[in-house]
Amino acid sequence: MTKSPFHESPVMPEMFDGEKPINFRCGKGISCFNACCKSADISLTPYDIVRLKKHLGISSSEFLDRHTVPYEMEKDGLAGVKLKPAEGGTACPFVTEEGCSVYEDRPTACRYYPLAHLSMRKQDEYVDRSGYALVVEKHCLGHFEEREILVDDYRKEQDLEQYDEASRGWRQLILKKKSSGPSIGNPSRRSLQLFFTACYDIDRFRDFVYSDGFIMLFDLPEEEYLGFEEDDKLLEFSYRFLRQVLFGENTIPLREEIADARRDRALRRRSMDGMEEE
Ligand code: SF4
Ligand code: SF4
Repeated sequence: MTKSPFHESPVMPEMFDGEKPINFRCGKGISCFNACCKSADISLTPYDIVRLKKHLGISSSEFLDRHTVPYEMEKDGLAGVKLKPAEGGTACPFVTEEGCSVYEDRPTACRYYPLAHLSMRKQDEYVDRSGYALVVEKHCLGHFEEREILVDDYRKEQDLEQYDEASRGWRQLILKKKSSGPSIGNPSRRSLQLFFTACYDIDRFRDFVYSDGFIMLFDLPEEEYLGFEEDDKLLEFSYRFLRQVLFGENTIPLREEIADARRDRALRRRSMDGMEEE
């Protein structure tokens, strides 16, 4: 096993694609069983939250409240969400002596381990490429097990194709925001809040899309609204909605007369604010 030249990071500097073989096996019989989960730093995707909150039988708002902490994915930019460690420690809140208590719905990062998944894209494009790197940590003995497996096969084994597909729109938004530079400007506080709600608090976002104001402003067929009962469909819609909110793309048709009236109201409000400041 190669050693990482980076003192701080266990991530190996070599990037590879899905055809690379890695040597790894993990399972209950291994002497380091649970060691990784006792010191876990797990970032969550929107789809991870949908799976976990369903598993726990709670709403997305309750899940965020009880089990997560927000963090900045980039300075003054889009927020991410991490699992909050169990009280007073570093262990994942879902680890038990028998292993992961949410195993069937464990997050993407846990499924990928010991791989890191990186998405890259060219400026102003939505198409992204995936690359992988190996994470080698001292406590993890799975690297010494005799099992060679291709990265693509490991991803299949861990059901990652479905997970990656369900969060692709979210990764594309992050990549576009990071690579757009000043042409997109700084999203308003309101847009950043909408990003957080639409990506991570899906049940609250559902209330928002079913509100009178939303229905009056956006020209969507009734069948589409019916589909929003399903978390997966609503999540897909949330990425489409956020492309409009963050980047001004015309992804959802507006009822023009309502949009015009709202624009007029906003302009009037801004000019009155300006008069008050003078
Ligand atoms: S969610 Fe499960 S697999 Fe992931 S860190 Fe927690 S206990 Fe471990
Ligand atoms: S082999 Fe690695 S991933 Fe598996 S339980 Fe041990 S530390 Fe965790």
